Amino acid sequence: MTTTEQLATALRDLLNEYDEESGTIDVGADPFCSECTQGQTPSRFDKGACPLHRAFSILHDHENPAPPPQRINGGLSALLIDLYESEINARISWFYDSGFAVEIGDEMNGIKEKVDHIYGTSGLEFTLICLAVKHYPDSAFGKAMRRE
Ligand SMILES: [Zn+2]
Repeated sequence: MTTTEQLATALRDLLNEYDEESGTIDVGADPFCSECTQGQTPSRFDKGACPLHRAFSILHDHENPAPPPQRINGGLSALLIDLYESEINARISWFYDSGFAVEIGDEMNGIKEKVDHIYGTSGLEFTLICLAVKHYPDSAFGKAMRRE
């Protein structure tokens, strides 16, 4: 599997975690994921990382994967507009050569999650998509991603 296929699979698995009843994607507390359970007793059933942390781990190892197939024609600029139009608050920053950092959420309502050391525009794109669908699955953006 290519890096892009692995990332696309992780993204699809993340979207599949959507719970109709609660309207949430609850992977932030996956009892099997070592990232989600940092500082806690890990589960004795080792199912590996949750889809979100699987995606971040792939992005960490590959500096510039191809863009996600779901958005192949859009690119980063189209993604920013889609997130903006869906009123998903985010912030992208960087410091010298340490990669990009993405924060999803805002200071008034709370930063939901921050991911840093992201390299390349595709990595940035994947990270924004993963964080947006995880934290705002019922937004127009989240719904559009789940349809694909
Ligand atoms: Zn996890």
